[in-house]
Amino acid sequence: MSYNQSNQYFTEAQQLFPGGVNSPVRAFKSVGGTPVFIEQGEGAKVRDVDGNEYIDFCCSWGPLILGHAPQPVISQVTEAIAKGTSFGTPTVAENKLGKLILDHNPYVERIRFVSSGTEAVMSALRLARGYTGRNKILKFEGCYHGHVDSLMVNAGSGLATLGTASSKGIPTNVIEDTIVVPLDDIDAVKAAFEKYPEEIACAIIEPIPANNGLLKQRKEFLEELKTVCHEHCALLFFDEVISGFRVGFSGAAGYYDIKPDIVSYGKIIGGGFPVGAYAGSKKLMDYIAPVGSVYQAGTLSGNPVAMTAGYAQLSECAKPGFYEDQEKRTQYFVNEINAFAKEAGISFHLTTIGSIFWCVFGDKDIRKSSDIDTDKMPTFAKLFHALLNQGIYMGPSGYEVGFISKAHTQEVLDEALSRFKAALGETFEIAEYQA
Ligand code: PLP
Repeated sequence: MSYNQSNQYFTEAQQLFPGGVNSPVRAFKSVGGTPVFIEQGEGAKVRDVDGNEYIDFCCSWGPLILGHAPQPVISQVTEAIAKGTSFGTPTVAENKLGKLILDHNPYVERIRFVSSGTEAVMSALRLARGYTGRNKILKFEGCYHGHVDSLMVNAGSGLATLGTASSKGIPTNVIEDTIVVPLDDIDAVKAAFEKYPEEIACAIIEPIPANNGLLKQRKEFLEELKTVCHEHCALLFFDEVISGFRVGFSGAAGYYDIKPDIVSYGKIIGGGFPVGAYAGSKKLMDYIAPVGSVYQAGTLSGNPVAMTAGYAQLSECAKPGFYEDQEKRTQYFVNEINAFAKEAGISFHLTTIGSIFWCVFGDKDIRKSSDIDTDKMPTFAKLFHALLNQGIYMGPSGYEVGFISKAHTQEVLDEALSRFKAALGETFEIAEYQA
């Protein structure tokens, strides 16, 4: 494969953007090499500027659950754009998407659209604080919630410690109110609530943590978390920017049948356009302006083109059998790879939930970020480049998950399987895959 054009564009981009990118995760920092510039996508595949084609398991980091350029989204968006791109007034497009979501999701009663996942989380945190009159936030090690100042925090040592910022530029007083505890550890949660009685507004968690590997949680842990939050009159906040509309139309709330008090959405909800949202009960959401006194606004919030894209995409997701089919194809792919790895005797497997999967360099599933074997990240880098050369595109980091879309048909997955096996063969130097 030749990457000449991508290399040239990246050289140019480095003169324009910090590190040549507009979001750090796009750089190949942890795997080495030069990012590929994608110019077109269709179904499960993308093509770069050098004409290389890849089966895409990144899917724009999750939003593209129907694959690239799906017909329902493209045709409805094209129609919407021709009518004007933004009005700054209420539009029917907002009503349609709002109604579709609320009609199919029994866990929330009111929703507010914003323009990104980060904005959704940031606004929902303000709501949690405004509603409870408390300042502190409990978060979990290994969960990412966008680049919200108060959540860019790493755990300190020991139980229920206050965090330290994981980015420069965050005032100390902003993170003083963030408490970080490990996942899957209810005693740490209880200790935090005991240490700061009547001070914690909410516990925010990715109910299916998928930003630091795929750290599937026990349902009992999530249930206990809800109980402890409510015992202390704090809110349970599910950040479903990834899991929302991914593991089911009602996200992880529906998957586990646990009703959180606040939910944030992003990614899939916008059909490939910049949309986020937060939602909850009518009572809670009525604390937001203009009804209530928690202020939040946005020039492009509920943008009609983005709402149309979201509506077109989610209408497909709401069809009977959509998620069962997604999960079935994902299971097939994962089972085939895992059987191959077992037979080859390599220390590797894919772990999965819904249509998300993650490469684990070991035999056991992992529930806590501290259990991830960081020494294996160079092996992921090797696998990543082997996959790229085979024509498979994954997020360029061993901590990132893969996504399977509707366009990843059985036929595409069979093609992906032989490429994936060859890449594993190269990475783990399996004899029959050596030249
Ligand atoms: N929350 C979670 C769970 C996410 O995975 C992300 C992004 O990956 C965000 C929030 C932030 O969303 P955005 O990148 O749209 O700002």
